[in-house]
Amino acid sequence: MNCLKNLVSGLRGRCSSAVRPPLRPPTTRCYSASTRQSHEVLQSGRGRLFRRNPVVVCRPPPSHALVFPRHYSSRRTPSDIQILFRVLVAGGAIVYGVVVTIRDGTFEIVPYTNRSHLIIYTPEQERELGESYFANLKKELGKKILPPSHPDSVRVRGLAKEILRAAHRGLADASNAAANQRNKSRQPQTKHLDGINWEVLVVKDNAVNAFCTPGGKIVVYTGLLDRFKTDAEIATVLGHEVGHVIARHSIEKLTKNMWITILNLVLLLLVFDAPKGHTNDELMKLLLSLPFSRKMETEADHIGIMLLADAGFDPRIAPTFYEKLGEISGNSLEKEEYKSTHPSSKTRSRLLSKANVMDKAVAVYAKANCKKETEGFFIFSSEKVSFS
Ligand SMILES: [Zn+2]
Repeated sequence: MNCLKNLVSGLRGRCSSAVRPPLRPPTTRCYSASTRQSHEVLQSGRGRLFRRNPVVVCRPPPSHALVFPRHYSSRRTPSDIQILFRVLVAGGAIVYGVVVTIRDGTFEIVPYTNRSHLIIYTPEQERELGESYFANLKKELGKKILPPSHPDSVRVRGLAKEILRAAHRGLADASNAAANQRNKSRQPQTKHLDGINWEVLVVKDNAVNAFCTPGGKIVVYTGLLDRFKTDAEIATVLGHEVGHVIARHSIEKLTKNMWITILNLVLLLLVFDAPKGHTNDELMKLLLSLPFSRKMETEADHIGIMLLADAGFDPRIAPTFYEKLGEISGNSLEKEEYKSTHPSSKTRSRLLSKANVMDKAVAVYAKANCKKETEGFFIFSSEKVSFS
């Protein structure tokens, strides 16, 4: 009980100091004797609104401002009951997060990058979520969706198939390699891909964009096809989107959002005042949401380039593709990427060009081409045999 009292009085002290206006002396002393009252008000801190702008300071403040009562601020010292209520709500939110994480959470290994991440949704829940979202999206897009027989749909679907075949091969190889390892807990998670219903839509829209939703649904806008003409460029986009699905990024984002919301609420209740809620939101965004998002985009780029190479496309096209995309979308500057969901195109290009990534991708590309030639030879031979 004493602990609770101490906590309440501690928080009260912190809240009181937070809401008290700062008592700083005025920076300029340009009031005449006739405005002595105004000057005293400034000295006491009540007229601090007038000190920021020298133009305003040099004029006598309006009389209604001078008689403004001291409790003009909406930020009042909270009562013991309010503080106790805040502590209970914040504690409840943390307990909820911990219970959900322990009950539903699993640490999974992302294929291709071997990164470990926390997920609180089962593959079934992910699929249900994706199907329901995609059904609504299709209704929303309506006639903008190109028919399956449209040349653009046929082309994009064909390229997506190439990427998915590559993913199937790559994941099978990764599973085989992991099966021979002693540490089974480091096995990449691929359960969510079993029996997945991949769908690719091409939407008539000038936006240079593509995205994916949980459960293997990919949407490509015709604006992207207009700007990027080669199959390798379109395959780069598809590889990136399939990379998001393989790494379960949508679901990881939802898991992280739960904890960011809880943290936001706790800070809002115990550290910041309600009027500063927007500052709190911005801080959460800059410090957590956006860096997480950029990390996932970088990971999707990495998986994407491996899929691109395994599908038989030269991976050296990928860095150039991202630079071009940055020029089109205006996201090429590294210094501004801190406020973006995606790394700048320069960063993306630089990370993919790194020797440890590109050398590996080029090796995968060479192997894939070799395999293609061999498979092509056997198919040709068997056809010949069957015809004779
Ligand atoms: Zn992405």
